[in-house]
Amino acid sequence: MNPKALKRQWHSVTVKADPSAVEAVENAFGILDAIGITTQTIGKIRSETREIIGYFDEAPQDSEIETKLRAGLEIYGLSPDLIKDVTSDVVVEEDWLARWKEHWKPTRSGKFLITPPWDESLESGLIEIRIEPSMAFGTGTHETTQLCLELIGECFVPGMSFLDVGTGTGILSIAAAKMGGNKPGSRIHACDIDEEAIRIARQNAAQNESPLIMFHTGSVSDDTPQFDFVCANLTVDILEPLLPQLLRITGKHLVLSGILTEQEERIRLVLASHGAAEVEVRRKGEWIALLRSS
Ligand code: SAH
Repeated sequence: MNPKALKRQWHSVTVKADPSAVEAVENAFGILDAIGITTQTIGKIRSETREIIGYFDEAPQDSEIETKLRAGLEIYGLSPDLIKDVTSDVVVEEDWLARWKEHWKPTRSGKFLITPPWDESLESGLIEIRIEPSMAFGTGTHETTQLCLELIGECFVPGMSFLDVGTGTGILSIAAAKMGGNKPGSRIHACDIDEEAIRIARQNAAQNESPLIMFHTGSVSDDTPQFDFVCANLTVDILEPLLPQLLRITGKHLVLSGILTEQEERIRLVLASHGAAEVEVRRKGEWIALLRSS
C-alpha cells in the first residue's frame, strides 16, 4: 500500500491579497472554520502582495468562500478588489506541518522569546514561551500582543497578582507566570469568553510549566476581585464598556491593548471621564497600548 494513502489530508484555500486585506481574509477563514492559517509576503517589500492560506478539515464550497471573503472585507470597509486571486488545493499532513515550521519563526518581545514547540534553538538568554499553533489568538506575532509582552516584561514584579482578560492562547498569563508569578501562593488568573480558547490556554500553560495559572471561561464582573496587574488585549469596542470594571479591579498597573492609532483620542476621552486621564502610550505599527499605573 502507498504509505501516503495513510497520511491525513487537509484542504487549503490560498488567497493573494493586498496587505491591507490580510486581517479581513484571516477573519473570513476563521468564520469558515479554518483549523490553521499562514500568512506570508510574496516578494521582499512590505507593501507587496500577501499570500494567506487557510487549512480546512472539509473543503469549503467556492461560493461559500467568495461570500465569506466579501463579507469579511465589507466588515473592514474594504473593497473586494483587494483580493487578487483565490485557489483551492489538497495538502497532506507533512506539507501542512512543514509550512508552519517554515513560516513560524521565534518572535522576540522585550524579555520574551515566543517559539513554536518544535523549535530547538535554545540558549537565547530570553524567557521562552512555547505556543502551539491553533485557532486561538495569541501566537506572539501580533503587535497588540507584543506591546503587552513588553509592558509585562518591564512592569511585572514577582509576587504581584495578575489577571489576563481575554487570554486567547494564554500567552500573557504564561509571561507573568514565567516572570516569577509561578510560585505557590502567587495569584495569576486568566479568563476568556471563548471556551475553546481556555482549553488551548490550559494546554499551553502545562507545556510552559505554569500549572498554577487559574483559567476560567467568562469575563470580568462585579464579583471580580482586585489584581495588582491587569492586562486586557481586546478591541476598543469591547474595552470601552469594560473600562469601569477594569479600573476598579486594578491595584497597580492596567494595560489596555488592541487599540488602533486613530482610536487613541476616543479611548483617552473615556478614560478621562473615569478619572484616569494619565496614561503612558506605547506604539507599534498601527497599534497602541496604554499603561495606567497608580
Ligand atoms: N491575550 C491574547 C489574546 C488576545 S485576543 C494576546 O494578547 O495575544 C482577545 C481574546 O479576548 C479572544 O480570545 C476573545 O475570545 C476574548 N474576548 C473577547 N471579548 C471578551 C470579553 N468581554 N471578556 C473576556 N474575553 C474576551
